[in-house]
Amino acid sequence: MAESTTSAERAIADNIAEIRGRMDAAAREAGRDPGGISLVAVSKVQPPERVAGALAAGHRLFGENRVQEAKARWTEPRARHPDLKLHLIGPLQTNKVKDAVALFDAIETVDRPKLARALAEEMAKTGRRPELFIQVNTGEEPQKAGVLPAELDALVALCVDELSLPVTGLMCIPPADENPALHFALLADMAKRHGLARLSMGMSGDFETAIRYGATHVRIGTALFGERVKPAA
Ligand SMILES: *Cc1c(COP(=O)(O)O)cnc(C)c1O
Repeated sequence: MAESTTSAERAIADNIAEIRGRMDAAAREAGRDPGGISLVAVSKVQPPERVAGALAAGHRLFGENRVQEAKARWTEPRARHPDLKLHLIGPLQTNKVKDAVALFDAIETVDRPKLARALAEEMAKTGRRPELFIQVNTGEEPQKAGVLPAELDALVALCVDELSLPVTGLMCIPPADENPALHFALLADMAKRHGLARLSMGMSGDFETAIRYGATHVRIGTALFGERVKPAA
């Protein structure tokens, strides 16, 4: 292995340790058990040596936002690391449901009835049942995925009562220009109301705040791997 690969790997290991330390401190400050909070390392668009660094450091939980990219990146490492866990954190088209159910351990972006029904059908067919989070568009932003807060009750009822889907939590991405705490508090309230234990919220810039509001999964990309390398134009 080239020298540069080794130092890149070491840098990632240091970043993971630092972020985990900050997560644990935020949990303790909030009177929470740090063991109840998972670090989803968001590897989308990151160069392979950085991802290899995280694997070498023993990290096993990763998030990807595109099904095809995740399949290309993770099929081989998955065979080497049976304890690897993958979360889909980007929008899911119904024509990718088959691949998504086959590949991911959790799908965090269920946000509409058509997708819920397609997931139920694929799960029935294959017997594979990845854990599901419902994504809520807490900021009601027109360009953003996620069910609107006013439509959440109906979607939960469809997923849980009618389709018996394995929904365990809620996920949100707050608007970039607003105080995320309000959105985290809102999501935590909605999860509590529906008896859902898991909350995927908090990214590089706001994960400590999210932990204060009850996050069980924080999704961290740039703070862990560095700036994403832009795909070629
Ligand atoms: C890219 C992405 C992240 C990670 O964002 P960073 O700011 O790099 O930590 C988290 N969640 C979702 C849904 C993303 O698409």
